[in-house]
Amino acid sequence: MKVLVINSGSSSLKYRLIEMDNESVLAKGVADRIGIGNSSLKHSGKKDAVIEKDMADHSQAIKLVLSALTNPEYGVISSVSEIAAVGHRVVAGGEQFTQSALIGDKEMREFRDLVELAPLHMPACLTGIEACMEVMPDIPHVAVFDTSFHSTMPEVAKLYGIDYGDYKSLKIRRYGAHGISHQFISQEAAKIMGRKNFNLIVCHLGNGASLSAVKDGKCVETTMGFTPLEGLIMGTRCGDIDPTVVQFLCNKKGWDVNRAISYLNKECGVKGISGVSSDFRDLIAAENEGNERARLAIDMFAYKVKKYIGSYAAVMNGVDMIVFTAGIGEHTPEVREKVLSGMEYLGIEFDNDANYNAKGDIIKLSKDTSKVGVYVIPTNEELVIARETVAVVSAK
Ligand code: ADP
Repeated sequence: MKVLVINSGSSSLKYRLIEMDNESVLAKGVADRIGIGNSSLKHSGKKDAVIEKDMADHSQAIKLVLSALTNPEYGVISSVSEIAAVGHRVVAGGEQFTQSALIGDKEMREFRDLVELAPLHMPACLTGIEACMEVMPDIPHVAVFDTSFHSTMPEVAKLYGIDYGDYKSLKIRRYGAHGISHQFISQEAAKIMGRKNFNLIVCHLGNGASLSAVKDGKCVETTMGFTPLEGLIMGTRCGDIDPTVVQFLCNKKGWDVNRAISYLNKECGVKGISGVSSDFRDLIAAENEGNERARLAIDMFAYKVKKYIGSYAAVMNGVDMIVFTAGIGEHTPEVREKVLSGMEYLGIEFDNDANYNAKGDIIKLSKDTSKVGVYVIPTNEELVIARETVAVVSAK
C-alpha cells in the first residue's frame, strides 16, 4: 500500500511517497516558491530532478508533484491510482481532534474554525489539503495533527492560570506542537528500553523547538502552549515571556498587538539575541570566532532546555531516558554538551566523546553505567503520518 504524505507551507509543499509494506521511501521532494515566482520542484525518485515551472497556487504544485511521481524517467509509479491514501500534516487540532481523522466536508469546516489557533500555519495547511482533494478526489485523505499527542496532558499541565470560564468558553489552554515528532521518538525510545513503563523526556530541537515529558508512552507535559511561541527560546521565537512585555513594546514603539506578536515570533529568539542568525550552524561558527552574543544566544538556548529537563524530571518523579532529535538535536553536539554537562544529580553520566565522535543514526550519549539513558534519535514525522493514515483508512 502506497501512501503520499503532504506537508503544506504557505509557499511550499513537501511530499513523500512511502511503500507501507516495508515502510520504504519511494520518492520525496519539495515544491518551492509557490505563488511568488521562480518556483521549482525538487524531486528525488528513480532519479533526482529539478523542474523549474511556474506554480501559481498549491493546486498547480500538487499537479506537478503527481506528474513527477508518474514521470517515466524519474517517477516511481505508473499511475496516480497506485496511491492508496494521502496523509496531511495539520498543525492545530484544537480540543476536538485528539486523534488522526479522515477528512470530509464536516472536518474541513471544523478545521476552518481552528485557523485562529494557528493563524501563521493553518491557512497554508488548509490550502494544501483543498488542492490535493480537488486533484485527487477519489483517494481518502487523512489529517494527522501536531497537537494530538499532547491531548493526554492532565488539566494541571494544560490549563493556564486564567479564569476557568474563559478556558471553557474560549478554549484558551496549552495545546503544544511537534506532537508527530514527539510521538515517533516516544515509540522508538520504548523499543530501545524494551518496556512500556518509563519516564521519557523528548527534546525536539529544530528551528522551532519543544520538549515533552512522556510517561508510559503518554504525553504529560510539553513546552509549547496555546501557540508554538511558548516555551524554549527558538530560532526566531522568544519562548516564555511575561505578557506585559507586549503592552510595554506597544506603548514604547507605537506598535499594535499584531506587530508585537509578529516581532516575538519572527525577530527574537537566538537570532535577536545574537544579531547573527537563527541558524545554529552560523551561531556555532560565530561563537568559534569569538562572537560573544552568539555564545550568549547558544548558552541561553541550552540553559532553557536544561531548566525544562529538570522540571520534567520533577513532574514525572525521575527520568529513565532523554532523547535529542531534529536539526539541532541531531547535528549540534555543542548544544548537547551545554545541556548535558553538570546533570549528574539526575543520574546522567554523559559521554562527551560519543557526543562528538560516535557515528550512526542512533547515538548513545550516556555511559553504560548511567542511570539515565541519553540518545540521539533522528525524527521521522512523515513515517508517523503515513502509519496514522494507514490506521485511519484501515479502520474505515
Ligand atoms: P525546522 O524543521 O523547525 O525548520 P530543523 O529541524 O530543520 O528545523 O532544524 C534546523 C536547525 O538545525 C538550524 O538551526 C540548523 O542550523 C540546525 N542544524 C545544524 N546542523 C544541521 C544539519 N547538518 N542539517 C540540518 N540542520 C542542522
